[in-house]
Amino acid sequence: MSYCVNCGVELGESEKRCPLCGVEVINPAKPYSEKAERPFPASAESVTHRGVRMITAQVLSLLLAIPILSVLIADLLKDGRLSWSLLPVAAMGFVFLAVIFPCLLKKPPVWLFILLGTVETAAFLFVVWVLVGGDWLWLFALPLTALVGAAAIGCYLILRSKRASVSLKIIVVLLILMVFVIVLQMLIELHLSGRIRLSWSIYAALSCGMVSLAVLIVSRLIRKNENVRKKLFF
Ligand SMILES: [Zn+2]
Repeated sequence: MSYCVNCGVELGESEKRCPLCGVEVINPAKPYSEKAERPFPASAESVTHRGVRMITAQVLSLLLAIPILSVLIADLLKDGRLSWSLLPVAAMGFVFLAVIFPCLLKKPPVWLFILLGTVETAAFLFVVWVLVGGDWLWLFALPLTALVGAAAIGCYLILRSKRASVSLKIIVVLLILMVFVIVLQMLIELHLSGRIRLSWSIYAALSCGMVSLAVLIVSRLIRKNENVRKKLFF
């Protein structure tokens, strides 16, 4: 019987390398023999995560289909047409999309989740608007949803970027925030008074701009300082 010189695990004669740490097995007393019985199966049984996810998705779909169908049938039987049931059905459809998509995709990127969430929210708002009416959808709720989704995706992408430096990340996030507050107030003003008059968003945007400028200056100074030090010492 051999033991791994690195991790001490017991080794069979069929092992050319330690199955645990990968270190080569050299034991002159017990040389490697391909024919020796393997202590472990050649291929490990892997749990099929995709299979588990698919089953979860199917079970969840079935669970959600029951209340959706019940609500639709109850509404149809009562009035002979669909009316109030569309709202709970849209809400359940929203939950369905938010829960089922993660189960179906293998490794969905986060930005795709944010995008899907934005589209789902917009679709849900549209259904609510169709049912209750009003002038809040096209010039307020939908642009606001798109604004939040775009800002979230922008922030996520820049924060995840491997090439961008920390200072660049901070600056870009602050710039996104600047645009966000200004567009937000524009939408609110347009919805409430029918015209665009900026007030608080200007102050918020200005402070974001000043902080990003400060970050830019400080990062430049640090880089300059580093370059000088490199020239002096190398
Ligand atoms: Zn080992």
